Amino acid sequence: MALEFRCADVGVACSKVSRAESEDELIASVAAHAKSKHGVELNDTLIDYARTKVRSSGQASGE
Ligand SMILES: [Zn+2]
Repeated sequence: MALEFRCADVGVACSKVSRAESEDELIASVAAHAKSKHGVELNDTLIDYARTKVRSSGQASGE
């Protein structure tokens, strides 16, 4: 099952949706995106926060 992470879920005005097959892969992808597009280096605190926002790809959010 694929996982996804949306910048918008952490309050960033960005429509980027990152997807990967594993959480570690996804976090690595998100970290690279955050650095290149937002100029933000993800530290442990931010990574822990990002992990709480990871969701299953295609899952209805109900929002
Ligand atoms: Zn973004």
